Amino acid sequence: MTAPLIDPFARPISYLRVSVTDRCDFRCVYCMSENMTFLPKKELLTLEELDRMCSTFVRLGVEKLRITGGEPLVRRNIMTFFRSMTRHLDAGTLKELTLTTNGSQMVRFASDLWDAGVRRVNISLDTLDEQKFADVTRWGRLPQVLKGIDAAKNAGLRVKINAVALKGFNDDELLRMTEWCAERDMDLTWIEVMPMGDIGNEDRLDQYWKLDDLRTQLAQHYTLTDLPESTGGPARYVRLEETGQKIGFITPLTHNFCESCNRVRLTCTGELFMCLGQEDNADLRSALRNHPGDDAPLEDAIRSAILRKPKGHDFDYSRQTVDGRVSRHMSHTGG
Ligand code: SAM
Ligand code: SF4
Repeated sequence: MTAPLIDPFARPISYLRVSVTDRCDFRCVYCMSENMTFLPKKELLTLEELDRMCSTFVRLGVEKLRITGGEPLVRRNIMTFFRSMTRHLDAGTLKELTLTTNGSQMVRFASDLWDAGVRRVNISLDTLDEQKFADVTRWGRLPQVLKGIDAAKNAGLRVKINAVALKGFNDDELLRMTEWCAERDMDLTWIEVMPMGDIGNEDRLDQYWKLDDLRTQLAQHYTLTDLPESTGGPARYVRLEETGQKIGFITPLTHNFCESCNRVRLTCTGELFMCLGQEDNADLRSALRNHPGDDAPLEDAIRSAILRKPKGHDFDYSRQTVDGRVSRHMSHTGG
């Protein structure tokens, strides 16, 4: 029996988020600059290396894999990787295979994802207004994403919408987005904007919309019931009694969720980040590439990385400066 991954604060690590590419077909203003320099291909884990990496984590007790990026569905032949993970679902060792996507490629891939065993997807959508969508994503087009959402639902996938809460941008769409999701039987999660990466001139503090305010506004129109469930992450959920919908609030900056943290993040270059808000990481790619036929050094590298998982993160907006800012891009670590 392989011993499970337990960190120094007795938290079992059962959830791995994997960024499979740093590239994207959008340039969301809070995530990327318009002129991004992407990594050379040889830096990226190959699809075979991604398989070996994820399979090792599954062997060490990871039960949930979330594939992210960048935009995971723009990685060439990514379905090969999804299909290769199906064997762990079939074996019962992996309980959930899922992804976070901007939805732009969903028309093409929805039924392949279903066939690979994916049952739920998170699709990011910050606004229902075509012009605002074009503004916030710079390169994205709303109708394409709406078609993608329909395709995902038609393929049988359960869709949750993720929206970044931006003051002066989508605060006026709170009710419209809620109703639109309710009509389609979709849950909706709001994410507080985080201080990630160097993305140009945007001042994140100006855009910061506190989710407490959002919740208060929602409570003026709906009956909110707190849900006890925790996913081991920074999301808290309420049910809207009138619609039956679940609304999530991801508040990595204002809430202390760290004590129940069950996750680590693998970048597309094979670095393992033990905490979203800290720079410390472990180079798993060397452990993997230097020992082609032997997973033992990789297992050791993973175990010693987990022993360095910190108690919590350092984001802090409290003095109106972005203390604890991490310099890497969200698209590198995976959101
Ligand atoms: N491209 C995919 C997408 O957009 O869903 C997956 C990667 S994206 C980095 C994952 C999530 O992170 C998206 O929901 C996105 O809105 C969110 N995100 C990106 N930058 C963020 C930031 N600075 N603060 C909060 N959320 C952010
Ligand atoms: Fe691309 Fe997702 Fe970042 Fe937008 S949030 S630029 S869609 S990776």
